[in-house]
Amino acid sequence: MIAVPVPHDFPATPPAPAIRVEGLERRFGERQALAGVSLDIAAGERLALLGPNGSGKSTLLRILGTLLRPSGGRAEIAGLDVERDAAAVRHHLGTVFQSPSLDGKLSVRENLDIQGHLYGLKGRPLRERIAEVLERFGLAERAADRVETLSGGMKRRVELGKILLHRPGILLLDEPSTGLDPAARLDFWTTLLALQQERGLTIVVATHLMDEADRCQRAALLDQGRLIALGAPEELKASIGGPVLDVETSDPDRLAPRIQALGLRTRRIGGVLRIEGAAGIETAQRLQHAFPREILALRLGQPTLEDVFVALTGKTLSPKEPA
Ligand code: ADP
Ligand code: MG
Repeated sequence: MIAVPVPHDFPATPPAPAIRVEGLERRFGERQALAGVSLDIAAGERLALLGPNGSGKSTLLRILGTLLRPSGGRAEIAGLDVERDAAAVRHHLGTVFQSPSLDGKLSVRENLDIQGHLYGLKGRPLRERIAEVLERFGLAERAADRVETLSGGMKRRVELGKILLHRPGILLLDEPSTGLDPAARLDFWTTLLALQQERGLTIVVATHLMDEADRCQRAALLDQGRLIALGAPEELKASIGGPVLDVETSDPDRLAPRIQALGLRTRRIGGVLRIEGAAGIETAQRLQHAFPREILALRLGQPTLEDVFVALTGKTLSPKEPA
């Protein structure tokens, strides 16, 4: 047997997961919003919940955030049951849900002040933490301004600062960059990643945007309340097995059977035809040669997380492009 030296900092037992989800279910009347999801999230991990509208992302986050009870299964935060120990669980959590949580008529400082009191902070310790948050998020100059006068990006920073006041170890963020322009989105993610490095936070972020999921260490793909894939973005994309080839044409329904007659499999995704299976430059050239007039454009690219989702479900992530 070969002895492998163990590094000094190697923990004797692996750290307990920050979040444990076991067979979690939630029904709303007839509708099954979560249909038995199981998932462990490691301490210090950044995990994306990626899925289209209605796939169950918010339901899962709201159960973890103790805002909603499961209909079946269970979930633990830092070893505490989210139903039985809801109050204790909340102290471990910083949460941003989809509805805005700031009072626009109040100043930045007042919003932070209210949050601090909610978590039992007051007096000098609270003032110090607010000062620290204002400084950390570049908000010191705007502390006295009403929140409604801030840009979308700044409001998001106030929200982030606010949920960090009680120093939680775990953040649950539900589509946190919704409504932000690309520059503000980039700023938000830069801030988030820096924060995670500084404080070793565990972060779960729900998104329907594949580029946000790409920024996480693992992505959990959700469809109709089910976990359909889980892994590092690179790993998930590699499962496609090679580049993907898309054909743009004015009449996809007409061209599809003609391409299939060449022995290729196609799938219609929105307005384009996806050539399935390992397709390379030769296939692209062959199609170009066979249908020079019908083909408007050929796109050969590395698979994205959206491609992984399409391969598993036949649907896209974006609601605007039904498959
Ligand atoms: P996502 O966040 O991925 O868009 P949700 O978790 O919000 O998905 O919703 C999952 C499913 O559960 C959807 O079909 C949605 O309509 C349904 N749903 C969510 N909340 C409620 C509710 N309070 N009452 C009834 N149905 C709900
Ligand atoms: Mg949602």
